[in-house]
Amino acid sequence: MFDLKTRDIKFLQGVGLQRATLLGKELEIFSLQDLLYYFPYKYVDRSRLYYIHEIDGNMPYIQLKGEILSFETIGEGRNRRLVAHFSDGTGVVDLVWFQGIKYLTGRYKVHEEYIVFGKPTVFNGRVNVAHPDIEPAGNLTLSLMGLQPYYNTTEKMKRAGLNSHAMEKLVKNAFALLREPVRETLSPGIVEKHHLMALDDALRQIHFPQNPELLRKAQYRLKFEELFYVQLNILRYAKDRQQKYRGLYFERVGEIFNTFYTQNLPFQLTNAQKRVIKEIRKDVGSGRQMNRLLQGDVGSGKTLVALMSMLIALDNGFQACLMAPTEILATQHYETISQLLFGMNVSVELLTGSVKGKKREHILRTLLTGETRILIGTHAVLEDTVGFSSLGMVVIDEQHRFGVAQRAKLWNKNITPPHVLVMTATPIPRTLAMTLYGDLDVSVIDELPPGRKPVQTIHQFDNRRAGLYAGIRKQIAEGRQVYIVYPLIKESEKIDIKNLEEGYAHVCEEFPDCRVSKVHGKMKPSEKDEEMQRFVNGETQIMVATTVIEVGVNVPNASVMVIENAERFGLSQLHQLRGRVGRGAEQSYCILVTSYKLSEDTRRRLEIMVQTNDGFEIAEADLKLRGPGDLEGTQQSGIAFDLKIADLARDGQLLQYVRNVAAELLEHDPSCSSTENEIVWRQLYALRKTHVNWAAIS
Ligand code: ADP
Ligand code: MG
Repeated sequence: MFDLKTRDIKFLQGVGLQRATLLGKELEIFSLQDLLYYFPYKYVDRSRLYYIHEIDGNMPYIQLKGEILSFETIGEGRNRRLVAHFSDGTGVVDLVWFQGIKYLTGRYKVHEEYIVFGKPTVFNGRVNVAHPDIEPAGNLTLSLMGLQPYYNTTEKMKRAGLNSHAMEKLVKNAFALLREPVRETLSPGIVEKHHLMALDDALRQIHFPQNPELLRKAQYRLKFEELFYVQLNILRYAKDRQQKYRGLYFERVGEIFNTFYTQNLPFQLTNAQKRVIKEIRKDVGSGRQMNRLLQGDVGSGKTLVALMSMLIALDNGFQACLMAPTEILATQHYETISQLLFGMNVSVELLTGSVKGKKREHILRTLLTGETRILIGTHAVLEDTVGFSSLGMVVIDEQHRFGVAQRAKLWNKNITPPHVLVMTATPIPRTLAMTLYGDLDVSVIDELPPGRKPVQTIHQFDNRRAGLYAGIRKQIAEGRQVYIVYPLIKESEKIDIKNLEEGYAHVCEEFPDCRVSKVHGKMKPSEKDEEMQRFVNGETQIMVATTVIEVGVNVPNASVMVIENAERFGLSQLHQLRGRVGRGAEQSYCILVTSYKLSEDTRRRLEIMVQTNDGFEIAEADLKLRGPGDLEGTQQSGIAFDLKIADLARDGQLLQYVRNVAAELLEHDPSCSSTENEIVWRQLYALRKTHVNWAAIS
């Protein structure tokens, strides 16, 4: 049996040991299968001919049909080149080669008809085509030439002669080896029902499309397959989990919840908050384990929803735990929640890495006895030494990077896994959420508490600082506080710190009457927290920082966010930073400072920031501008985004469609065993074996 997966690429004609190593290292191509699934990134239409007189200064790759009038060798040494004067009756172009002169003059003949393919350039009024492809015209029918594929290759590969053209040849060689069609990976039922091209045809057409229509069909088929298996994998996993884990059953909402609601709650819940709390109550009363993602823009009031969900657990005799990504955030939550619960006799504790000794022992002990009802903390709560008497609800704040593996760790703290609520202010577009968190239900808070004034965003070039500083001075005079943020690039922390230090010195000089804080990632956590705390308490008026302040910090009195070198930030990062202001009743401002020279993309990003405060709109725009692979948070999510052909930004509709197909299949074949679907289950199994990332989510 000819198995593409086990056919080592090094044995393919034209590869060999050295190129095989390169293909593996650069593109992760190890087998024939990998090669056939390495798709072109663009195509050039070779079904049309141009006339030489049509050529102007700026042409793509084109084809000409004509004859060589004469050959000529020009230049000496490294400049030695072969020129063929080529004419189609409407003009003359020079075909130029710097290599293989002898071979070429032997191969091509004067006054015979050829098709020449290449990119023309105009130099000194003469048209040149360097290193064109030439083929005898007699052999070719234009309509059969179809579209020519272009493959991405790396610099290293190009140096070894593995350019796009070489890749094309390798793919041709691979197809030439096949004695039978590539084996189908979708069941006949699915292929037929959804009018899909057979896999063998699709692979041939994706590399060498005969026409745009067939190319489109091939792309559709391959995208369908790719998204289908991603969705099938996630849905099957979610189903497994539902069957394996019965959830804790919280039948009542009782005294604690009600006391809080009627006596302690300092304001009216927004309708969105009410709706989400209802959704959560329904989940925890269903007997299924809740796994819910709560999305809500910065400042939408997620903490309150978290707290009230935890109170439901308490009312049913369970403990609750709230986890935050940083010490400062955990501390802030602890303070907020202690305040909100004031007078209610609910014991709340804070556990972070810096809680040690007696205090720590006390917390660990009272968690085990059940005396501590709510635990708030950082990752420290995940440690094995932390045990609960009866953990019923876990809330994870601002952690879209909190993967399934970590969630599983929480479950180990109980016989029955607790309900889990993951909260994030990073608005994840629906298509992405479906792929990232396919096993989570999603709630959205789409409404801000009343009385908030939307943050005003202004884009300013950095040669106009005087006005900017005057504005800041005015705000500070009115008692407000100000953030000034500098970018952080991982590769050159040194430069960033220098940037920040210079910025800090500059700010101190400009604002001699102000106290200025400085926070960056290289500081010890305790120092960082101390400095943050000074700003939170209002001891300092200006906070100069890198993006470490990005998530969650709540200083309602801060009314200005200045982002230096804003061109170096992504959209969602800018939005997160902007969310640090506009938390109080005052009008707040976000100033995006950039240099004058900006790329088109950057200009677009800044425009979007100025135009809208809506996180979802921004996330959608981000997805469109950058593609999902770059989207913040997805890289670290631990879930594969190396989609080969589907594009989450563009193929959202198809994703929804195949998700339904996958769900239907699971419903009809819950035990994954019907012979009708045999191909599908075998393929899913094979994918799970090869994709590290796929295995990780199960
Ligand atoms: P986030 O969703 O960004 O975590 P928070 O939970 O920190 O937002 O809430 C932001 C601010 O809004 C807090 O100061 C909180 O007290 C306040 N807040 C929350 N809900 C309401 C509400 N329904 N009405 C008025 N203010 C609210
Ligand atoms: Mg928050």
